[in-house]
Amino acid sequence: MSLTPQHPLSPGSTIGILGGGQLGRMLSLAASRLGFQCHIYDPQPAGPAAHVSRSETNTSYEDTEAVLGFAQSCDVVTYEFENVPALTAKTAANAKPLHPNAQVLTVAQDRLTEKTFIRDKANVPVALFESVDSIHDLKRAVKKLGLPAVLKTRRLGYDGKGQMIIKTEADITKAWTMMNDAPAILEQFIPFRREVSVVAARSLNGETAAYPLIENVHKNHILHKSTSPAQDDDGRAQALAINIMTALNYVGVMATEFFELEDGTLLVNEIAPRVHNSGHWTQDAACVDQFELHIRAIAGWPLGDTAPKHTVEMTNLIGDDVDHWKSLAEDPKTFLHLYGKRDVKPDRKMGHVNRIIG
Ligand code: AMP
Repeated sequence: MSLTPQHPLSPGSTIGILGGGQLGRMLSLAASRLGFQCHIYDPQPAGPAAHVSRSETNTSYEDTEAVLGFAQSCDVVTYEFENVPALTAKTAANAKPLHPNAQVLTVAQDRLTEKTFIRDKANVPVALFESVDSIHDLKRAVKKLGLPAVLKTRRLGYDGKGQMIIKTEADITKAWTMMNDAPAILEQFIPFRREVSVVAARSLNGETAAYPLIENVHKNHILHKSTSPAQDDDGRAQALAINIMTALNYVGVMATEFFELEDGTLLVNEIAPRVHNSGHWTQDAACVDQFELHIRAIAGWPLGDTAPKHTVEMTNLIGDDVDHWKSLAEDPKTFLHLYGKRDVKPDRKMGHVNRIIG
C-alpha cells in the first residue's frame, strides 16, 4: 500500500488528530472551513475538539489496535500535543502519513535530545547545557556551567513544571531530590531581555512560511500575553526556526521559543511540534491563521499568506478569568475564543481574547 495520499488532499477527506484539547478544537474548526472532516483520538470522551468534529475514538494511546483502526479511517494523521507515545505515533505512521513525522516527536519529547539536535544538526544556538543523571553529575555540571543555573527534567516538563533554579551551592541537594531520580539537564541561567517566539510552517515540498515575531510574557510560568508583530523584528528568529524545521524534514506548523539577550543574541529555549498558544492571535489578525496553515501544510495545499493585517495582543483566559466573558464580548475590538470546557479549574486554559491594538 502506498502511504502517499492524493495531493493536494481533496475537500471531504478525513484528517485524524491525536489529542482532543483546545488546539485540536481550533485545528478541527479550521479544517472544516476547508471542507475536511476530523476524527479525534482522545482517551477522554467529549473534549473540546470532539465538540466540533465528525467522530472520536476514546481509548488509551497504548491500544495499538484502536490506533491502527483510527489511522485507517483517516487520510492523514497529525497531533496536537508532543507527548504522543512513540509506539502510538509509529503505529499510526505505518498505516497513514503522519505529519509532523515520528522522529520529530522523539526529538521534541526529550530536552537533552532536543537541545543536542538543535545545536548540532540544525546549527542553531541554545543555552549551554549538561546531561544530569545523578547528584554527582549535577555537582560536576554546576562546576562547569556556574550558578545560577536551571535544572529541568528531560521529559514531560511544561509550563515551568519539573524545573528549579539553583542559585547557590546549598540548593544543589534540594534540587536533585525534587527530580526524584528522573533524568535531567542543567542549563545555564539566561538573563534574557525578553522572550520571543516564531510560528512557522513547512509544506510537503519544502516551501516555508513564517508569521512576524511574537513577544511573550509569562505569569506563574504560564503564557499570559503575546504581542505581534513584536518590536525590532529583523527576520533572524524566523530564519533560525526554518533551519530547525528543514533539519527535521518537518511538515506542518512548528513553534520555536527563544531567549533574546541584551545584545540581541537569540538562543532557542524549546520547540513545540504543533500549533502554539503564542500563535492564537493569527485567528483575528493574519490572512491565514496558524490552524489553517497547519491543515494546509499536512494536506499538501499551498501554505497561504502569513502576512499580518493588524498589530494584536492575545491574552489567555486562565481559570476564572473566563467569568468575564460577557464584558469581553461587548468590546468590538476584542475577539473572544472559548474552548467549551465545562469545569473551571485554577491554571486551566479556558479561552483567549485577541485585541486589535494597531
Ligand atoms: P520551559 O519549560 O523550558 O519553557 O521554561 C519555562 C520558563 O522558565 C521559560 O519561559 C523562561 O521564562 C524560564 N526559563 C527556562 N529556562 C531558563 C533559562 N535557562 N534561563 C532563564 N530562564 C529560563
